[in-house]
Amino acid sequence: MQIRYLILFFISIMLTNLNCKNAKNETPGKGVSFALNEYRKKTIDSIHYAIELEIPSQKIQAIEGKQLITFNLKSLDSALVMDFSTDSAHVHAVKSAGKEISYDFINEHIVIKTDQLVKGKNEIEIIFTAGDLSLNRNEEYLYTLFVPDRASTCFPLFDQPNLKASYSLTLKTPKHWEAVSNGILKEKTSTGDQNIYHFEKTKPISSYLFAFAVGKFFKTEKIVDNRAMTMYYRETDSVKVKRNSDEVFNLHAKSLTWLEDYTAIKYPFGKFDFVLIPSFQYGGMEHPGSIFYNESSLFLDENAPINRKLARASVIAHESAHMWFGDLVTMDWFNDVWLKEVFANFMAAKIVHPSFPEINHDLRFLLAHYPGAYEVDRSSGTNPILQKLGNLKNAGTLYGGIIYQKAPIVMRQLEKKIGENLMRESLREYLKSFSFSNAKWDDLIGIIDNKSPEDITTWSNVWVKTPGMPEYEFVGNKDEIQIQQKKDSLSGRIWQQPVVTIWKEMFAQGSIRINLNNKPQNVRKPDLPAMVFPNSNGQGYGYFKMDSVSEDYFLKNYNSAKDTMLIDPVFRGAMLVNIWEGFLRGDGAAPEHFISILIDILPKENNALISDNLLGNLQTTWWTFLTESQRSQYQEKIEKVLWTLLETTTDKGMKNSYFRVFKNIAMTDDGLSKVESLWNEKLKVKDLILSEDDKITLAYELILKQKGDGKAIFEKQLNDTKNPDRKSRMKFVIPALSPDQNVRDAFFESLKRPENREHEAWVLEALGYLHHPLRAKNANKYLKPSLDLLQEVQLTGDIFFPQRWLSATFSGHSDLESANIASSFLKANPDYPYYLKNKILQSTDMLDRAVKLKK
Ligand SMILES: [Zn+2]
Repeated sequence: MQIRYLILFFISIMLTNLNCKNAKNETPGKGVSFALNEYRKKTIDSIHYAIELEIPSQKIQAIEGKQLITFNLKSLDSALVMDFSTDSAHVHAVKSAGKEISYDFINEHIVIKTDQLVKGKNEIEIIFTAGDLSLNRNEEYLYTLFVPDRASTCFPLFDQPNLKASYSLTLKTPKHWEAVSNGILKEKTSTGDQNIYHFEKTKPISSYLFAFAVGKFFKTEKIVDNRAMTMYYRETDSVKVKRNSDEVFNLHAKSLTWLEDYTAIKYPFGKFDFVLIPSFQYGGMEHPGSIFYNESSLFLDENAPINRKLARASVIAHESAHMWFGDLVTMDWFNDVWLKEVFANFMAAKIVHPSFPEINHDLRFLLAHYPGAYEVDRSSGTNPILQKLGNLKNAGTLYGGIIYQKAPIVMRQLEKKIGENLMRESLREYLKSFSFSNAKWDDLIGIIDNKSPEDITTWSNVWVKTPGMPEYEFVGNKDEIQIQQKKDSLSGRIWQQPVVTIWKEMFAQGSIRINLNNKPQNVRKPDLPAMVFPNSNGQGYGYFKMDSVSEDYFLKNYNSAKDTMLIDPVFRGAMLVNIWEGFLRGDGAAPEHFISILIDILPKENNALISDNLLGNLQTTWWTFLTESQRSQYQEKIEKVLWTLLETTTDKGMKNSYFRVFKNIAMTDDGLSKVESLWNEKLKVKDLILSEDDKITLAYELILKQKGDGKAIFEKQLNDTKNPDRKSRMKFVIPALSPDQNVRDAFFESLKRPENREHEAWVLEALGYLHHPLRAKNANKYLKPSLDLLQEVQLTGDIFFPQRWLSATFSGHSDLESANIASSFLKANPDYPYYLKNKILQSTDMLDRAVKLKK
């Protein structure tokens, strides 16, 4: 990338010399290319946007806006390119010093020629109609979501992260609507049927972090630890709000205080609010001063399992950490987006630990990161942590399991390599040096390499800049056992990492820590044939193949007190990850045997985190790896085991988990009768409290499995549901559950129109049912059209949507025909965009493995 850039640079110098004036009158393409990004970074600074938007009460009415953009221009070599990803009809006038000036609208850019500009301070006024694409307009509220390059779909600006700017926002809203944005509310006035909100000028922030939400929101203000915070929310269940509210405020206050201490920098953005939005696309989004959350990740149901509570604390800590890591210091270009995510996760893990002293955090880290990272890294569509990005319009495709799950693992390894103190010292220097500015991964590596005796650059080149996961195997004979890295896909690549392995003989056992390099390493020279349990502390990254003797010993004596290692939950979690990986790679038991193993060990597990992991693998094995006849063979048994666990466990969180899986798997008359009786409340299980969402999904299972009169069940459930957002969602999802194929076909057809994909969470839920394993055969015909739609889905949807669209589409499929549809599609489109091709390979990896293992 650097070399190519240098060449471009020389060419542009040559052009300048040949052509004196108007040198770079190139036509900008769509999006923000890396070259445009670099050019603007060099020539523009001191940017301020004063934006005024008039929000009407009806969501179909246009939002009119005007803005004054002030900036310093250092060069008049080239026309000024601003980004506005709409059409030319959205621009009404462009003015300078009060007078209209000429401009061109080219490929979603407003282009102003140099004769309309001056070197130094410029003030450009633009009158426009805002684009709706990223405004998430609902009947009673709207909210922006501008990450990664979507601010330009709403208003004209320089939409790239390294041109930080301050924003002064004025919003005119319908009466009784609240408004919240990054800046402090300076003044609120009312005229007739309007409220006018004036927000103070923000600190310098990147365009993807600018945000506002307006609408009918409830509002709670609270001061915790001398910190004033306001929570905006939509939830109508006041008991639920009351139950959760204090904890939500406290978790924020705790996170912020912890971060101020760790970074030695006070919270940098003045005021601190958060907005809870129903069906928000992500867990949260870190707009400085105004974090947006998915309401359901913060307002938990009664008896929420411990992992939901952990997830809530984690998402709050994650978004709070972003205020420093991402918002105060921001990536220079979106290829380093992983860096803000890894820091947020890394800090979140540190922050959440003290709040949950009863939790085994090594186990939590293991189960929250390794399986998710392997899911992508074992597929042929995997990517390195640090990826290349030629144009900002493709930034959304960078996100995924590698950024969110693998990168934290690698960051933890880095900290272990250099030590906690040096890590904190380096991060403080990094944050201080680049405050309110931008930095790259290599900037941080430079800081660390200066302080550390280790060669961090070489380590980073393998772990951060190349894709995939190492594979290890044990070799040797009865005299010695060795562990070695298997032949790697990239020649000469060595995955340096320490790995702990437990060995066990008849009368002795011990553990050994090995620094893995490319040479075989001795684990033990035993006198007797020994068993080995590789990566026994779960911290090494890769596939650690287990031998059948050791695996059998572990499973036959699952969680048995006869051996202390077996009752260590981290050890159990680590071995289960090894075994699951082996199963998926065809090195372990066949599926019909594997399901009986899972059914057998599940009741022996008393740790909620491991139990949830087992239940997840159980459901995947059940629906994806078993044939229909294999399922029917185990149907009664699995229902009986789950129901007994559900009735007898005293752990309320685990009870809820067993309930969810039972509901999902039940198929026998008896099982479905239980589902029905739970739904209509004729049956109560002690300490099992069902939320409105639980009731809705119970109704869905009954409709899907055709137990009772589907239409009547839906009507009753709709009637019983109080929350208006949930009602709308149900009406959207229900056609996907219809027993009538024509109704389902029509629903799928409707998804081809972008306006029907606006509520992405709704679409994903509906797709899950449309492609449910029980309906998969009849849903094969949707696969090809869904792939055909993918590029459009990427253009019109949010950043995670293409991946989620694919996952929801393929999750229910496990036969050869579906696998062939995906592979034929890729064959027929050899020039398909690289990132999207990878997403398809990632989403169909499980399907391909199922086809192989089912043979
Ligand atoms: Zn994040």
